[in-house]
Formats: sequence, C-alpha cells, structure tokens
Amino acid sequence: MWLFLIHDRKNQRISLTMSRVTRKQQKNLIQDIATQRMWRLFELAIKDYEKHPDRSERYVQLIRNISMRNRMSIPKEIKRSICKHCYAFLVPGSNALYRLKEGYIVISCQRCGKKMRYPYKRLK
Ligand SMILES: [Zn+2]
Repeated sequence: MWLFLIHDRKNQRISLTMSRVTRKQQKNLIQDIATQRMWRLFELAIKDYEKHPDRSERYVQLIRNISMRNRMSIPKEIKRSICKHCYAFLVPGSNALYRLKEGYIVISCQRCGKKMRYPYKRLK
C-alpha cells in the first residue's frame, strides 16, 4: 500500500511520497510518468505545428526539461523530431529533410542547416 501524490503545476514538478516502495520502483514510476508526459507533449507538438509552430517549439522545450530533470533520455522516436543543434521541432516536408543513406537516416534541419545521423534498421 502506498500513497502517491503528483503536483502538476506549471513547472510540472512531480513529488511522490511512498512507503514500501523500493527506490528502483519509485524511479521506474517517475520515469513512466515522465515518458507519458513526453509522448503527450510530442502529440501536442505535432497537432499544433501547422497553426502554431511556436507552440510546438515550446512543447519541445518542455520535453527537454522533463528529460533533464529526470535525468533520462528522450524516447528515440521523439528525439528524431527534434533538432539536436537548435532544438527545432522537425516536420518532414516542412522544415526537415529525411534521407536514407547507407544504413543511416540523415535528417537535415532547415532552420540551422545542420545534419543529424541515426542508424537505420532495415526490416528483414
Ligand atoms: Zn536545427
């Protein structure tokens, strides 16, 4: 039996008060919530991009804050939509170019002009 409180104010601080929950479980739980938040923000960023690209930028910022605060990495599907140089929210065909090259996916950010390269797994 454990008690568990989440304060979701504008700074999205999560505080958990629990008993009989190991640190590892506690960490997993916090990370689960953080991951869910990141996905939710990512969905919002996609949804708002067309009409409010500035909002998408803000969501990207929030995703980064969550990942930094919880010292965890951003899910790779989300990470690929964020420019790692200027943190722009990348949308293929709008501000980003996606190319496949020798087992890598090369994403060019149209805002800062830099490129990112991620290994690309071919389906067999
Ligand atoms: Zn960029």
